[in-house]
Amino acid sequence: VLEPNVVISAVGAFSTPKLPDIPGLDRFEGTVLHTAAWPQDGVELDGLRVGVVGTGASAMQVVPAIAERVSQLTVFQRSPGWIAPFPYHHAEIPEPLRRLGSEVPLYHVWDRIRWSWTFNDRLYSALQKDPEWEHPERAVSAENDAHRRYFTRYLEKQVAHRPELAAAMLPDYPPFGKRILLDNGWFDALTRDDVRLVTGSVAEVTDRGVVTDSGEPVELDVLIYATGFDVVRFLDTIDVTGRSGQSLREAWDDDNARAYLGTTVPDFPNLFILYGPNIQPGHGGSLVGLAEMQAGYVTNLIGQMFADGLGAVECREAVWEEYNRRVDAAHEQMVWTHPGMSTYYRNARGRVVVPGPFRNVDLWHRLGHAELDDYRLEPAHAAG
Ligand SMILES: Cc1cc2nc3c(=O)[nH]c(=O)nc-3n(C[C@H](O)[C@H](O)[C@H](O)COP(=O)(O)OP(=O)(O)OC[C@H]3O[C@@H](n4cnc5c(N)ncnc54)[C@H](O)[C@@H]3O)c2cc1C
Repeated sequence: VLEPNVVISAVGAFSTPKLPDIPGLDRFEGTVLHTAAWPQDGVELDGLRVGVVGTGASAMQVVPAIAERVSQLTVFQRSPGWIAPFPYHHAEIPEPLRRLGSEVPLYHVWDRIRWSWTFNDRLYSALQKDPEWEHPERAVSAENDAHRRYFTRYLEKQVAHRPELAAAMLPDYPPFGKRILLDNGWFDALTRDDVRLVTGSVAEVTDRGVVTDSGEPVELDVLIYATGFDVVRFLDTIDVTGRSGQSLREAWDDDNARAYLGTTVPDFPNLFILYGPNIQPGHGGSLVGLAEMQAGYVTNLIGQMFADGLGAVECREAVWEEYNRRVDAAHEQMVWTHPGMSTYYRNARGRVVVPGPFRNVDLWHRLGHAELDDYRLEPAHAAG
């Protein structure tokens, strides 16, 4: 048993694989696996009939990687995602850029900020609902609708010779409503003769394959679940008990995680959560930059604890409440509360718990320095 004074959780949010809630999951007699548990030494797929359930970010990576090897690939799509072009997939970084990165001071910092701005703060206004906008079912504003036109044109161009695919893969909810997917060779794979897209939910798993919600049986040798993770149950891989004796799960009423700056929670002094609730940039880009900002915040706070001889810092309830009130109010004006899509960003009661509603640059300012006034402080000798 270790007895640290401070605990920093970095367990990630994509830790617990999620399976669909359908009958017969244990009946399939072929090979079955979840993308999160891909065997280290690979899986036999050559010449087999393979089914992939899901069309999110995991399917986007798996399908192009295996399409050439299998005899027949069936992709089951419950709800399509908006897909952006990604010409840099597996592209070599050109030598001049490598030299800039290694020899010009701060070049790589500038480059990261440029990419981060491009995929995040530059798009921020396109995520905001315009109450005057006349077509709220398909987009949240005229600007958001312009993104819809751009993504739609890209989709139609990729499957120009298969108009039925374009219709099947066109989302009916606003762009950015779910996490944007990057075209890692997805359309090239989906337009192959030996790849078939089946729309609708998988209704049941049988010993020989699956049955779709239209009643069609599909026979398979391998069944791959690309059905994602239980993201909304933050920290579900560890049991944490607070000062009052209640667990973090209880404090969060299971899936309703709320933290101050995504990092600290009243009743849980000296627990610092990286990749906590409402931190992920929901519209795209890298979470790593945000996790680094959080790490900077935590080290700043711990540094102040050392400097001031503090043994415990506990987020003030009022500070936590007010911060989360602002999070929820901001989300009400943003695309992720649009009712048109189901998304892992929301918990069972519909509250947005995964993405943050603020710009990166705002979080950068907020997380740059920890304000001790936000915390109840205890001197080191009292905390033990
Ligand atoms: C298909 C897919 C696509 C993604 N695309 C993007 C993207 O485009 N951009 C992006 O920013 N992010 C993306 N992500 C999310 C990505 O997982 C995170 O950005 C990144 O991995 C977060 O890093 P992390 O260190 O916080 O967590 P992780 O990389 O998840 O690391 C958590 C670690 O904690 C360990 N752990 C968990 N529980 C315990 C425990 N109880 N005890 C000890 N160790 C434990 C795990 O084994 C793991 O090693 C994607 C994820 C998936 C699955």
